[in-house]
Amino acid sequence: MNMSLTSETLCCVSCGKPLPISRRANARYCKECLRERQAEQHRAFARRYAAAHREEYKAYLKERYLWLVSHNMCVSCGHEKAVEGRVRCEKCLERYRKKKKA
Ligand SMILES: [Zn+2]
Ligand SMILES: [Zn+2]
Repeated sequence: MNMSLTSETLCCVSCGKPLPISRRANARYCKECLRERQAEQHRAFARRYAAAHREEYKAYLKERYLWLVSHNMCVSCGHEKAVEGRVRCEKCLERYRKKKKA
């Protein structure tokens, strides 16, 4: 039985799906796995960056927080008006409540 899979057929090294010929030149991953890997790399970069620049990041967050509070803006999403007497908008407060319960 010839499966027509020659030694030249490249498969995604992650999920094993054969790759389309047009992608063979530079791809070892299928589109889905590539996207997943890129997302993972992006997350890893963000984690590394946050770890390496912890103090700067904290300072930035604090500055952002103070700026938003002084402008009566939601400190979570940063673009909605904060509810009177709170630091978050209605939508974020709702989300926050749900998260706490879960
Ligand atoms: Zn794949
Ligand atoms: Zn908000």
